[in-house]
Amino acid sequence: MKKFNGWITLFMTPAKPVQRLLAISLISLTLLITVLVYFTGGIQYVYSHGMYVPILLAGIYFGVYGGLIQGFISGLLLGPFMPIDTETMVMQSPINWIYRIVFFMLIGGTIGYFSKAVKVAYLERIKILKRDIYTDIPLFTNLLDKDPEHHPHYIMHLKILNHQDLIDLLGIDAYYMVLKMLQQRMIDFKHTSSVYQKELSSFIITLERKVDNTSLELLSDTLRETFSVEDVPVYIDTALGITESSDDLHTALAEAMYAARYAERNFLSYVNYKDTMTPNHDNINILGLFNKALNTDELYLVFQPQIDLNTGEIVGAEALTRWQSDELGLMMPDDFIPLIEDTSLINDLTEWVIKSAFERIKMLMQSHLPIKIAINISAKNLLDKTFYSNVKSWLETYQIPGKYVEFELTEQSLMSNKGISKQFIDQLKHEKISLSIDDFGTGYSSLNELNRYQVHTLKIDQSFIHNCKDDKRLCSIIEAAVNLGKLLHIKTTAEGVETKEEVDYLKSINCDYAQGYYYAKPLVFDEFYTYIKSHKKT
Ligand code: C2E
Ligand code: CA
Ligand code: CA
Repeated sequence: MKKFNGWITLFMTPAKPVQRLLAISLISLTLLITVLVYFTGGIQYVYSHGMYVPILLAGIYFGVYGGLIQGFISGLLLGPFMPIDTETMVMQSPINWIYRIVFFMLIGGTIGYFSKAVKVAYLERIKILKRDIYTDIPLFTNLLDKDPEHHPHYIMHLKILNHQDLIDLLGIDAYYMVLKMLQQRMIDFKHTSSVYQKELSSFIITLERKVDNTSLELLSDTLRETFSVEDVPVYIDTALGITESSDDLHTALAEAMYAARYAERNFLSYVNYKDTMTPNHDNINILGLFNKALNTDELYLVFQPQIDLNTGEIVGAEALTRWQSDELGLMMPDDFIPLIEDTSLINDLTEWVIKSAFERIKMLMQSHLPIKIAINISAKNLLDKTFYSNVKSWLETYQIPGKYVEFELTEQSLMSNKGISKQFIDQLKHEKISLSIDDFGTGYSSLNELNRYQVHTLKIDQSFIHNCKDDKRLCSIIEAAVNLGKLLHIKTTAEGVETKEEVDYLKSINCDYAQGYYYAKPLVFDEFYTYIKSHKKT
């Protein structure tokens, strides 16, 4: 009965205009054929067969009930009111038209039944296509096909950070099992409404309401819990990005992805999306201008002296980049290095910095003021296979010994590139170039690694130095780093030293070197030259 109602209300509801138009066309066609049969002489002639057309169409479009109703109406119109011959007005016997009605209904109903079966099979096929063939997890394209009026309120992008390692370790089939288990963990999260697979290394999760940070933390911990694959516990590293979904689903998906990427870069387990995470046109503009700056003289180096706390002598200097842009004004490294680090421009910058620093070292050597210059190296430089051979050839070109060069690598970059770093460090050692660990204390290096890499200096991050007087635990960390240095024969440099008080404290704990505004701000080369000339013992 419900189905009949549905067919009847077709004419009443404005919601399905296409079907309504179809129904109106069918009625018109039926009436037209009825009129045609009547005015061509009655049911005895062949035109009555035209009535099969609306019956077939009704079955195809409106299913079994549509076919039955159309069969009944068509049979009725060609039945008791339709004469055999309009001239004589001889009417049909009831058995004749009753039989026709039943026959028409049978045809309409049968066609309706089969067309429905074909539709179901077709939809089933589409459904299969909308699942990942290996994991059987619904693909995120399902989400895009959904009625735009019912799209989700929150979108979460889950990134599997160590997916390549997992595939290498377990093989692809076991990795699919990991994905299935992850899917289950996300389904079990009580706020989840649907889970879709996006790529081999990412999922999209839809949520109906806002989830607080405690729940997100909990979800992230659950996702990262070790998996057991054939009794082997497997660690999985993930990053989550969440955004509120506005009217535009595509934008929301992109925002969730940017947030997940942000979480990954900043070593966070989850992040709520903010506008600043979307790559904007300003960034592209900066990259374009920086590319130009490399070939003009907008870049220059400044040098910040490093002082031996025991003797007060200069032991070296750190080279820091400055960019005086015609269009953007003075740009500090934090304004552009994080951007260019994601492009190959970082290799061009490092090349420029090394060559410029080497040139300065050579000038200092010629002035009999040789000094070791520390150059900041990005983790991305270590991925460049030609990096070491280039450094070697530049040493030859500028004719400077490696002992006047130090490379600074942040603790985080050293620890996240273990394989490459060891080989690179052996090569540096061969050239007598020393290595220092920058921002020490902010990453997670182990004693074993410090020893293995034969690091020359630990540069204790300035956040410890600045905040030590208010938080005694930070002083303990500084002291632990200094003692560790003594134990492993590694020098320690305190960064960002600004006050006499800090200097006295660092001296009292036997820290080796200091660098900071207390001694000198980063100086342009001429100032730096004057500085060392007046401070260096002859
Ligand atoms: P960093 O290697 O930790 O460099 C030290 C930063 O602290 C410099 O900032 C320096 O100017 C600042 N600084 C020095 N003494 C003090 C002090 O007493 N107090 C305070 N508050 N700050 C002090 P800068 O020059 O803005 O450089 C920022 C970061 O950019 C550097 O941090 C380094 O990681 C990166 N960087 C700079 N030049 C280069 C480069 O040529 N290549 C690469 N890859 N990175 C660079
Ligand atoms: Ca540095
Ligand atoms: Ca530093």
